[in-house]
Amino acid sequence: MKLTVDRDRCEGYGFCEQAAPSLLRLDDDGEVELLTDLLRPSDISSAEAATRACPVAALRVVEQ
Ligand code: SF4
Repeated sequence: MKLTVDRDRCEGYGFCEQAAPSLLRLDDDGEVELLTDLLRPSDISSAEAATRACPVAALRVVEQ
């Protein structure tokens, strides 16, 4: 499984970072940065929580 971000949709709200701080963070310009894209099994619930938290549906958990 893989976490992806659509940077054209992302508005920099940061809810995803709050939901999954080990997977995402906002950089100094307010752009979301993926700390990893390949998800370990233990990361999947956090990645899904971040996806649900994003108000503009910029995140997706997808099959590789
Ligand atoms: S919650 Fe969505 S819009 Fe906000 S920083 Fe994360 S990906 Fe971007």
